[in-house]
Amino acid sequence: MQVHVSDKKESLVFLLLIVLTALLILAFLLSAYLIPMKGLNALPHFVKWTLVAILGLTGMFVIITFSSLSWVVIAGRDSPVPFSRFLRTIAIRYFLPIFIAVGKLIGLSKQQVQHAFVGVNNRLVLHQCLNGKRPERILLLMPHCLQYSECPVKITYRVENCKRCGKCVIKDLLEISEKYGTALRVATGGTIARRIVIETKPELIIAVACERDLTSGIQDTTPLPVYGIFNRRPHGPCFNTQVDVKEIEAILKEIRGKG
Ligand code: SF4
Repeated sequence: MQVHVSDKKESLVFLLLIVLTALLILAFLLSAYLIPMKGLNALPHFVKWTLVAILGLTGMFVIITFSSLSWVVIAGRDSPVPFSRFLRTIAIRYFLPIFIAVGKLIGLSKQQVQHAFVGVNNRLVLHQCLNGKRPERILLLMPHCLQYSECPVKITYRVENCKRCGKCVIKDLLEISEKYGTALRVATGGTIARRIVIETKPELIIAVACERDLTSGIQDTTPLPVYGIFNRRPHGPCFNTQVDVKEIEAILKEIRGKG
């Protein structure tokens, strides 16, 4: 698997966020231990040592979790730490808002952090797909805003209704879904997307969406692997958006092992 320059940049940004977040949490735990030390001495021994044990165990959990995450980001695969995948799942579900807040402290926009998050996620997903059991059931999950805004055809429940006029990328997406034997669905929002995932039971989702929908989709569906691609919005959000179909085909080629 090739690692591109932007992948490296995204990994470095994410690594920096992981290290900074870990240091901030450890500094907080240390101050929570040091500041009330005098007060703690006035407490009964049992209470004092219970508090110390809780702070110490939390600190150890933070060190193990964030070291494991750093390994995942550097190597692009799960670390040898037991429960690495479980720790990664927790991090994906719950730590992103913390990384966004820490990113703000060092001048990174929310979008930059989301791009770094999706970039690292994609490396992991590709590694998982290429080195484990290759996924058979792949779902291409597209946002409704890719459809030409004046197209009269309803494609949200049956994308095959598309007349393939070529005014939007839905035609090309239908062609590659047929070529690679994948399901193709169009969703108007998160609730419909979740229903599609339940109905199609994919082993891998290749999803196109904006930063907000893509990151929340990856968080919602983890541990189900989602390879994320951001849509382009030359006409503003949610209106005649675009996606590089060649990028989607390149991923499918790699996963399906077709040269
Ligand atoms: S390609 Fe399909 S969805 Fe797009 S405008 Fe033409 S008929 Fe409508």
